[in-house]
Amino acid sequence: SKDSGGNKYSTFSHVMQKAVLRKVELENEVRDALERDEFSFALQPQVEIASGELFGFEALIRWCHPDRGFIPPDEFIPLIENTKTMLEIGYWGLKKAFEILQKLDELGFTGLKIAVNLSASQFLDPDLLPFLSEQIKVFKRDPSQIELELTERTVVADIDQTLDTMQQLKAMGFIFSIDDFGTGYSSLAYLKQMPVDIIKIDRSFVSGMSDNNADMQIVSSTIAMVQKLGMQVVAEGVETAAQMKLLQGLHCEIGQGYFISRPIPENDLYALLPEKLQF
Ligand code: C2E
Ligand code: CA
Ligand code: CA
Ligand code: CA
Repeated sequence: SKDSGGNKYSTFSHVMQKAVLRKVELENEVRDALERDEFSFALQPQVEIASGELFGFEALIRWCHPDRGFIPPDEFIPLIENTKTMLEIGYWGLKKAFEILQKLDELGFTGLKIAVNLSASQFLDPDLLPFLSEQIKVFKRDPSQIELELTERTVVADIDQTLDTMQQLKAMGFIFSIDDFGTGYSSLAYLKQMPVDIIKIDRSFVSGMSDNNADMQIVSSTIAMVQKLGMQVVAEGVETAAQMKLLQGLHCEIGQGYFISRPIPENDLYALLPEKLQF
């Protein structure tokens, strides 16, 4: 009836309104949390599979809320994408990565890489280049130790500007990886044009390797292709000894996942590091 139609419309608009409000609310909460210093990084080891040596870490953001406890990144990062607050968190994270490298250096752990996740809006922000060149000056650090992780989705958002920004950051010395490879709009044409150093094979393929032939073939041919392109390859989400063994057989260079190590809170990292240098 006319009535229920009207209700449906107002319900829909009510839901929309609530979603918008929730986004603004969350954005404000995140901004407050930044000011109260509630964010930290957990660092997940990445290991050279052949030698068992530590290659570096992926930095994963953690929000410890005073009332609600631990809030996982999947519950706030995608929701504040394209907001100014997302940019602020992004800059917090990049600066933190430089700080961690400096700390590692001071402790004598040199040459390790730190991978930082960048969202699309961050990557297209005109302040990104000046911000990063400032950090290089302030921290006097070699940017080749900082790996910027982009997803396929980020890359295709604005391909011309993305390529331009990547080339400038590459010239400054940063390295690039493509995250969740194979899950987005896989764009081999873009891959060819981009200054990419590392490809990260998504966890969904790695987890199926042992009992799904399609996953096994995807992982194996991705590794072969990446190596032929002169890039390095990381297998994400390695959870079992069986997966590790298969990856070793496929000459996958780097592994990351719970089987190797859970992400380690930065506060615990420095004391734990001596026993994490060799796996
Ligand atoms: P991602 O970049 O794909 O990161 C890998 C996620 O897989 C992390 O979840 C990690 O804890 C989890 N993981 C690692 N090994 C395993 C495994 O063996 N099995 C399983 N089941 N999971 C594993 P996390 O920390 O909850 O992060 C989720 C996502 O949030 C990330 O996915 C990334 O997209 C985003 N994210 C995290 N930190 C940041 C950040 O600082 N900035 C931005 N823009 N996004 C971030
Ligand atoms: Ca990532
Ligand atoms: Ca990933
Ligand atoms: Ca993911």
